[in-house]
Amino acid sequence: MAKKVILKKGKEKSLMRKHLWVFSGAVKFADVQIQPGETVDIVDSNGSVLAKGSYSPHSQIRARVLSFNLNEKIDRDFFERKIEKAVAYRKQLPQLKGTDSYRIIFSESDGLPGLIADKYGDYIVCQFLSAGAEYFKETIVEILVEKLKPKGIYERSDVSSRSKEGLKFSTGLLWGEAPPEKIEITENGLKFFADVYNGHKTGFYFDQRENRAEVAKYANGKSVLNCFSYTGGFGIYALNAGAESLVNIDSSQSALDLTLENIKLNGLPETNVENIRGDAFAELRKLIEEGRRFDLIILDPPKFIDSKKHITSGARAYKDINMLAFKLLNPGGRLVTFSCSGHMNFELFQKVVADAALDAGVNAKITAALRQGVDHPVSTNFPEAFYLKGLVVSI
Ligand code: SAH
Repeated sequence: MAKKVILKKGKEKSLMRKHLWVFSGAVKFADVQIQPGETVDIVDSNGSVLAKGSYSPHSQIRARVLSFNLNEKIDRDFFERKIEKAVAYRKQLPQLKGTDSYRIIFSESDGLPGLIADKYGDYIVCQFLSAGAEYFKETIVEILVEKLKPKGIYERSDVSSRSKEGLKFSTGLLWGEAPPEKIEITENGLKFFADVYNGHKTGFYFDQRENRAEVAKYANGKSVLNCFSYTGGFGIYALNAGAESLVNIDSSQSALDLTLENIKLNGLPETNVENIRGDAFAELRKLIEEGRRFDLIILDPPKFIDSKKHITSGARAYKDINMLAFKLLNPGGRLVTFSCSGHMNFELFQKVVADAALDAGVNAKITAALRQGVDHPVSTNFPEAFYLKGLVVSI
C-alpha cells in the first residue's frame, strides 16, 4: 500500500487544475512513517487519489506532484522518461545552435521538481533542491551518465532553499572526472570561462543567452555600460558586435577578472574596456556626476525581491537603479533592463520602469519584452517557473 497524504476538504482545487505543489496548510493527515522525499499518494478528502508526489516533511511545500497518472510507477523508468524528454526538447531548439552549454533540466518545468541539471560542455552540474530530488539522487545521476555520457557530474547544492527542505548544503563530484577549475563553454559561437565551483548558480547565467544576442543587435558603434556584469556576458556580445567602448560594473572582483579573461578568450579588443568594482547604485551616481553618458545600458541586477513581504522595498530598488540608468543615457539611447525576481510580475516591472523614466525626466518607449531563455521553459500549469523579465526601452 502506498503511503498517503490526505488533503483538507476543498484543498484539492489547485491539483484539479494540475498545479504541482501541495502546501502544508492544505494537508489534513500524513502517514507517520514517510521518509523525506519518499513518493506518496496525494488523496482528497473523499478518499480519491489525485496524484503521486514526493513528500517534504519540513517544507511549506509539503508535496510536489510527480505524476497525475495514477497508473504510472515512480521508478527508474519514470526518471528515464522525464530526462529523455527534457534532453530531446533541447536538442531540437534552433536557439541552441552554436551553443554547447545550457540548462538540460529545469525542475518542475521538466516534470522533475527540485532538480536542476546544467550542461557545461562535456560536464554536468546539478542541484538537488527538494527532498524528493535528493531521495532519487543516485538514480538520477546514473541516468544522466547513461543518456548524456558526460566526462563528469558535479553537485552544487549550496543553495539556501535547501534548508527549507531540511537539507544541508552539498557540493562535490558525483561521478567521473572533476570539471576543470575554469571550464570553457561556447554560447552562440562566443567562448566563456565558467567557474562551476564558486560561480553564481551553477557557474553561468544560461537564462540570458537569447537576451545577450538581442542586445548585440543594438551594439555596433555604441558606447555600452554593462551594469551587474558578472563574468561579462552582455558586454562580450556587445564588443563582438562592434561596440565602440564598454564599461562593466560589478561588486565581485573575481567576476570582473574573469570578464577580462573572457574578452581575451574571444580575441576581442580590451583597449576600450573599463572595469569598475563597486556598488552599482553608488557607481552609477558617480558616473552621472562625472557627466559620463552611454548609448546602450544593460541592467541585470540580482534578485531584489526574495519574498512577498519585500515586494515594496524591492520595487523601490528596481526603480532607483532604472532611474539612474535613464539619466546616464545619451539622447536616442537604449536601456535593456531586467528583473529576475519571481515575485515581481511583468505588469509591476513595466510600471516600475515607467516610474523610473518619469523621475529621470525622459520620454521612454518600450520596444520589446524579453524573458528567460528557451532552456528555461514555463509549464502552463506551473507559472511560478517564470521569473526573468526584461524590457528594451528607447529614449
Ligand atoms: N548579467 C550577468 C548576470 C548578472 S548576476 C550575466 O549575463 O552573466 C548579478 C550580478 O550582480 C552578480 O555578478 C553580482 O556580483 C552583482 N551584484 C550584486 N549586487 C551588486 C551591487 N550592489 N552592485 C554591483 N554589482 C552587484
